[in-house]
Amino acid sequence: MKNPPFHYHRPNSVDEALALLAEHGDDAKVLAGGQSLLPTLALRLGPPEHLIDIGRLSELDSILVDGAAGVVIGALVRHAVAEDSADIADHAPMVHQAMPHVGHRAIRNRGTVVGSIAHADPAAEMPAVVLATGAEMTARSSTGERSIGADEFFEGYLSTSLRSDELLTEVRFPALAPGTGGTVVEVSRRHGDYAMVGLACRVQVDDGTFSDAALAFFGVDSTPVRVGAAEAVLIGQAPTDEAFVAAAEAVRATLSPGADIHASSNYRRHVAGVLTERALSSATEQIGVPA
Ligand SMILES: Cc1cc2nc3c(=O)[nH]c(=O)nc-3n(C[C@H](O)[C@H](O)[C@H](O)COP(=O)(O)OP(=O)(O)OC[C@H]3O[C@@H](n4cnc5c(N)ncnc54)[C@H](O)[C@@H]3O)c2cc1C
Repeated sequence: MKNPPFHYHRPNSVDEALALLAEHGDDAKVLAGGQSLLPTLALRLGPPEHLIDIGRLSELDSILVDGAAGVVIGALVRHAVAEDSADIADHAPMVHQAMPHVGHRAIRNRGTVVGSIAHADPAAEMPAVVLATGAEMTARSSTGERSIGADEFFEGYLSTSLRSDELLTEVRFPALAPGTGGTVVEVSRRHGDYAMVGLACRVQVDDGTFSDAALAFFGVDSTPVRVGAAEAVLIGQAPTDEAFVAAAEAVRATLSPGADIHASSNYRRHVAGVLTERALSSATEQIGVPA
């Protein structure tokens, strides 16, 4: 199907983009890499009257390592650039690990990291990485700027707490505490497909036991979800196979994923447990405490 008619805007500055968003509000959509938005338009699913293309906003095209504050990724940074960035590999390793799972390289050449987060597909990798790492999103409008924590950002299927007059300008991944390991694992039908089930896992080990854990699943609900019950099972435990199995059991007892043509609910629940053990083993190995 052809795209519906729309007014196309290509601002030259963030301020100009914000003025357009303030003017057109609910009738406008930001166009970043277009890898999710353009297929949606072609299917005529809720077409906007105005498209605001942020492709010329070079001020948003940077990756900054900011010492203790972490890594800041601007809204125009493409997945492929993030994938190839040594700074991201060193300072935001879970973002680096997620990248090869995001579609295919051709998609990653155009799609943006921040666009993935704004799109909030519950089966996508980046929203779960945001949740697992406690990243913060910066939203700007013509009236000001605010920071939105990971816990408050994802509200429902393809739905976030971003207002219609706001532009997501960057995402900040906090610096990793000493003794931290993390990994992103998933099961999909073919490489590059959206995950049937995936897990972004971050753990911290102090004095031989888990002091912090974040298990953020994707593909199992209408948003990415952390399984607090399984995280609690780990705290204070040594990273052993027994602890991993106990966490996996808590995951299976907590999650009730939906079923679709790709997988039943039971299959997804089973895989979520398998991925829990796999991710915990890999993350703790990175810290140098193999089970
Ligand atoms: C065949 C195919 C396979 C794919 N597989 C995967 C996959 O396995 N995993 C995965 O995660 N993704 C996958 N994708 C999607 C891809 O990663 C998209 O690039 C990404 O989801 C959105 O990034 P984008 O820059 O293209 O955003 P766009 O498509 O331009 O925008 C997506 C949405 O986010 C909003 N938006 C974008 N940027 C901003 C901003 N800065 N501020 C406010 N709102 C904004 C837009 O208005 C729109 O609603 C796939 C896409 C295709 C076509």
